[in-house]
Amino acid sequence: MSDSTKVLLNIEDKNVFIDEVVRGDQAIQVKAHLTYVPKACSECGVLNQHTIIKYGWRTVHTRLPKTGEWAVVMHLRKQYYECHACRGHFLAHTSIVKRNCSISYNTHQACLSKLNESVSMKHIAQEMNTSPNFVSRVLNRFSSDFKTDYHHLPAALHIDEIKSTKDAQGSMSCVLMDSGYQLFRDILDVRSLSALTRYFKRYDLEVRNQVRFLVTDMNYTYPQLSEEIFPNVIVIIDRFYIINAIQCELNKTRIEVMKKFATSSREYKALKNIGNYYSNWPQTWIIRTFTALPSLNTSPLKLTLSIIY
Ligand SMILES: [Zn+2]
Repeated sequence: MSDSTKVLLNIEDKNVFIDEVVRGDQAIQVKAHLTYVPKACSECGVLNQHTIIKYGWRTVHTRLPKTGEWAVVMHLRKQYYECHACRGHFLAHTSIVKRNCSISYNTHQACLSKLNESVSMKHIAQEMNTSPNFVSRVLNRFSSDFKTDYHHLPAALHIDEIKSTKDAQGSMSCVLMDSGYQLFRDILDVRSLSALTRYFKRYDLEVRNQVRFLVTDMNYTYPQLSEEIFPNVIVIIDRFYIINAIQCELNKTRIEVMKKFATSSREYKALKNIGNYYSNWPQTWIIRTFTALPSLNTSPLKLTLSIIY
């Protein structure tokens, strides 16, 4: 019963053992206990070399997210320990609930997810078996994570696209990332030049001047931002897209040449086989082959590649 009940209640802590589940008048009462052999004392930090002993139990009452229409309350008996090194005492730790808190982490997460919907805090509190004050505290605590910082932009700004969810305006959304530290910055549900210009104008020119490199795909929209928004920026096309474009062109040419030969000829078979062969080449091999082509001596793409590699 223990494992299946834990799955239903979304409890992943392997040190929690379900003892009994009772359906009361107002809520489902779950009785459980938490115990393990601690690796070290959480008071003094000394490693447990048979110096920490079990010293009874302490019960905490935790509210879990609702199951169906039923509120769920867990009565968790936590193991209490005594350390012989420092004579200190401490409780077993669990990933279900924060210390000195009666509302589970799962409820915090579910509440945060519900705040994305256009419903009142009172409604969320009823659904989560908590109070509106708790919902308000969760909102205040995490709101800074969702606010865009308009006082800073990274030196290397990466712009890319992802498929939008149904609630977005456009079919594709625009993602902004910090290339240097590989950190997510912001997501916009539109990607037109006018919308991007409006968005970036919320930053002061001084802040926009902090951007030295604009890393993009081969979309023609983003480099146009350098004219008005980022006057000091150097536009760099991500090498993934360059490799992709070269592979695509090589493949197209190979197929064109291949079709000139009879399907039974050696040339046809050789060109067919080489397609599978060079698709597995490392990126640097493809770049070297491409830049070595004599007919491309004056190509701007070749010059760009020569600078990068
Ligand atoms: Zn200790």
